[in-house]
Amino acid sequence: MGDPRGFLQIGRKKGASRDVAARVGDFREFEATLPEDALREQASRCMDCGIPFCHKGCPLGNLIPEWNDHVYRGRMEDAFEALLATNNFPEVTGRVCPAPCEAACVLNIEKQPVTIKEVERFLGERINCGEALAPRPAALRKQARVAVVGSGPAGLAAAQQLARKGYEVTVFERSDRIGGLLRYGIPDFKLEKDVIDRRIGQMQAEGVAFRAGVEAGVHVTARELRQEHDAILLAVGASEPRDLTVEGRHLRGVHPAMEFLTQANKKAAGDAVLGQIVATGKNVIILGGGDTGSDCLGTSHRQRAKSVTQLELMPAPPGERAPSNPWPEWPLVFRTSSSQEEGGVRDFAVQTKRLLGDDRGQVRALEAARVELRAGRLVEIEGSTFAIPCELVLLAMGFTGVEKKHPLLAQLGVALDARTNVAHSAFATGVEGVFVAGDAARGASLVVWAIAEGRRAADEIDRYLSCERERAAE
Ligand SMILES: Cc1cc2nc3c(=O)[nH]c(=O)nc-3n(C[C@H](O)[C@H](O)[C@H](O)COP(=O)(O)OP(=O)(O)OC[C@H]3O[C@@H](n4cnc5c(N)ncnc54)[C@H](O)[C@@H]3O)c2cc1C
Ligand code: SF4
Repeated sequence: MGDPRGFLQIGRKKGASRDVAARVGDFREFEATLPEDALREQASRCMDCGIPFCHKGCPLGNLIPEWNDHVYRGRMEDAFEALLATNNFPEVTGRVCPAPCEAACVLNIEKQPVTIKEVERFLGERINCGEALAPRPAALRKQARVAVVGSGPAGLAAAQQLARKGYEVTVFERSDRIGGLLRYGIPDFKLEKDVIDRRIGQMQAEGVAFRAGVEAGVHVTARELRQEHDAILLAVGASEPRDLTVEGRHLRGVHPAMEFLTQANKKAAGDAVLGQIVATGKNVIILGGGDTGSDCLGTSHRQRAKSVTQLELMPAPPGERAPSNPWPEWPLVFRTSSSQEEGGVRDFAVQTKRLLGDDRGQVRALEAARVELRAGRLVEIEGSTFAIPCELVLLAMGFTGVEKKHPLLAQLGVALDARTNVAHSAFATGVEGVFVAGDAARGASLVVWAIAEGRRAADEIDRYLSCERERAAE
C-alpha cells in the first residue's frame, strides 16, 4: 500500500489540458499527464482495499493497487510489468478509456477516486516510447497458424497474445491501415496514430504478419482461410450503423458519422481525400450524444463549423446518481465530454421528424419535435415542432451489430444472436475452429472490452489448438 494516510491528505488532481481556443486549432492531442512527482503523490492515495472495487470496474482485471504502490515507491519497471501483465495497450486505454475502474473505486463514494487512468497513461506513455516496448517473441514456435480477421483492439490484442504463445499469426484488415476504430474512428485529438504504429512495429518484430487492404470473404475466401490456418478469429467489429428512417434522409449533406470521421482521420494522416465531407462554414447537426457524436463534434470544431448542434432522443440524464444506480455501478449521470467542453449546443428529448431540402437536393433544415417519457415510452409533445437550419447532418445514433452483408460471416456460416452479434459460447462460434471477440461478439462497446475479449479469445484458441494437437498425437 502507498501511504496509509495519502487519501486523507492529498486531493485528486489531474494533468492539465491545452486550453480550448488553442486546441481546436489543430488535431493534436491536448491532454497532458502530471509530472512524475505529482503522479507519485496521486498513486499514494490508493488504499490497497481489502476488496479492490476498482477490479470490479475494469474488464481487464488490471492490477491497480499493485501498480499504484510501485509508482508511489518509484519502482517504475515493476509498475510497467504489473500493467503489461493484463493489458496489451495501456498507452491506448490510458488515453481513451472512460475509466470504469475510477467509477468503481472506493474513494469515488466521496467523488474523489484515485486517478487510475492518469497513472495508466503515464506508465503507458513511458512503455510506448521506452525499453518496455522491446519485442517479446515466443521462446518456442508452435506448428499452428491462426488468422485474425480485423485489426481493431480485439484483433490486435489476440494476435499479440497468440504470437507470444508461439503461433504463426496473420492479421487481415480490409482498410488500408491497421488499427480498426483506433485508426479510423477515434480522432487524432484523442489518440495520435504514432501510438498505434509503435505497437504494430513491436508486434511485427514478435512475428505477427499484417495484411492491410485484404478483405476476408472477398480477396481471400473463407475456404482459403480455413485451408491455410488451423483457427480463425473474427474480430470484425459491429459497424452496421443505425439509420434514420425519415423523409429527406436521401438529401445531400446527410451522412453516417463514420463516413465523416474516417475521412477526417485519413486527412489527418496526410492522405488526399477527394470530395471530403467537411463541416467548414456549415451549420452542423449531430444526431446522437454518445462517443461517436462527441468525436463528430470535436472534428466539426476543428474544421471551423459555423455552428454545431447535438441532438439526443432521450431526456438528459440526472446530475447525480439515482438511488437505483448506486456505487460501484457505472454512474448513469449527465456527462460533458472534452469535445462538448469546446462548445456547441446540446439538446435532449428531441425527435427528428423530417429533413428539408432546397431545390438542388441539399439539406437545408431539420424538423424536430420535443418528446417526453411517459410510462417508459417516448411520446411527442403536442405543438412542440421546430426547425433548425443546417447544411450538414451527421448520423451518430449507434450501431446495430455486425454488418448484415458481411461476406465472410455468410461464407463461414456463423450464427448471429438476437442482437445481430456473432453468437458464441466462450468465444467459440459453433463453427469448428472459428472464434469471435470484441464488438463483433458483444455489440458496439469500449476499447477496454475489446482488448479483454481479444486476450480471452486467444486463450480459448490456444486451448482448442492444444487439444487438437493432443488428439492428433493419440
Ligand atoms: C467514433 C468512435 C469513437 C469511439 N471512441 C471510443 C473511446 O473514446 N473509448 C473507448 O473505449 N471506445 C470508443 N469507441 C468504441 C471502440 O472504438 C470499439 O469498441 C473498439 O474499437 C472495438 O474493437 P474491435 O477490435 O472489436 O473492432 P473494430 O475496432 O471495429 O475493428 C474491426 C476491424 O475489422 C475490420 N474488418 C471487418 N470485416 C473485415 C473483413 N472481412 N476482412 C478484413 N477486415 C475486416 C474493419 O475494417 C475494422 O478495422 C469508439 C467507437 C467509435 C465508432
Ligand atoms: S478501489 Fe480505489 S483505493 Fe481501493 S484499491 Fe482500487 S484504486 Fe485503490
